[in-house]
Amino acid sequence: MNIAFLGLGHMGLPMAKNLLAAGHSVIGYDVVDAALEAAQAAGITTAKNAPDAAASADVVITMFPSGRHVIDAYEGELLAAARPGTLFIDSSTIAVDEAQTAHERAIAAGHRNIDAPVSGGVVGAENGTLAFMVGGSDDDFAAALPLLEAMGKRIVHCGGPGLGQAAKVCNNMILAVSQIAVAEAFVLGERLGLDHQVLFDVASGASGQCWALTTNCPVPGPVPSSPANRDYEPGFAGTLMAKDLGLALQGIEQTGTDARLGRLAQEIYAAYAAGEGAGRDFSGIITSIRDSG
Ligand code: NAD
Repeated sequence: MNIAFLGLGHMGLPMAKNLLAAGHSVIGYDVVDAALEAAQAAGITTAKNAPDAAASADVVITMFPSGRHVIDAYEGELLAAARPGTLFIDSSTIAVDEAQTAHERAIAAGHRNIDAPVSGGVVGAENGTLAFMVGGSDDDFAAALPLLEAMGKRIVHCGGPGLGQAAKVCNNMILAVSQIAVAEAFVLGERLGLDHQVLFDVASGASGQCWALTTNCPVPGPVPSSPANRDYEPGFAGTLMAKDLGLALQGIEQTGTDARLGRLAQEIYAAYAAGEGAGRDFSGIITSIRDSG
């Protein structure tokens, strides 16, 4: 397939490389020169602007920082430049309503569109092991599947337009709340005289078991591969968790959902990202909890 890949940043470049390695023809574009140079060094042909990249593509994939970037690009010359019926796949993490707006714009311009946000981080993008959560029609999902399989391992069709983004924010809200709960439990345990390993052994084999404990354990020792063992080097950075919770909060407010823990998690991670958590793994929230009381 002829693929235009727009947004060749931390995630986009390795994803584009995996499409190339799978035998697709990839033309890339990024607004930043250094990203274009890195793509060229990786053997990816680059275009001089996004509409040029899209003009001869069967599929246009976007991997941008935010929903504003996606909508601005769609409402600019991108949709107009593409051939009728082009499949637009947006893999950026954006709000559900932004994804639905982008979808409407693409359909109105005579194209097809799915939202396909990812989890798995840069390592997953490099190794082709991302999880994709897809929102869109059955036909468009089926058309995109071989491409998503070249970049990822677990691909789930979550429903109609925007529902890939909905699945992503709901999952990350669970993750944020559970990571905070695990951190609070370890700090409480410390103060009650409980050894970290003992609490881990009990909770990991009992009803407190969760990914935040057994994979991303926030204290060094019990899970040697967790970021706590390397001074909270990400992993999944506090800034990215704060961004995703901001998107969850938009959904909470739009739907009037009584999600008090989700709101609180958003506040906690916004403060963490604005301070010590900017470049640290989100499990480092335990140090803020320990220090604040
Ligand atoms: P990034 O900032 O490294 O890359 C985004 C790229 O898009 C940048 O290089 C930027 O110059 C480019 N860009 C912006 N507007 C553009 C335009 N109009 N045309 C062409 N290029 C444009 O960000 P990232 O870490 O690669 O993340 C991309 C998306 O994936 C975000 O929405 C993020 O939330 C999501 N995400 C990131 C991770 C992660 O671990 N980094 C994990 C899951 C999801």
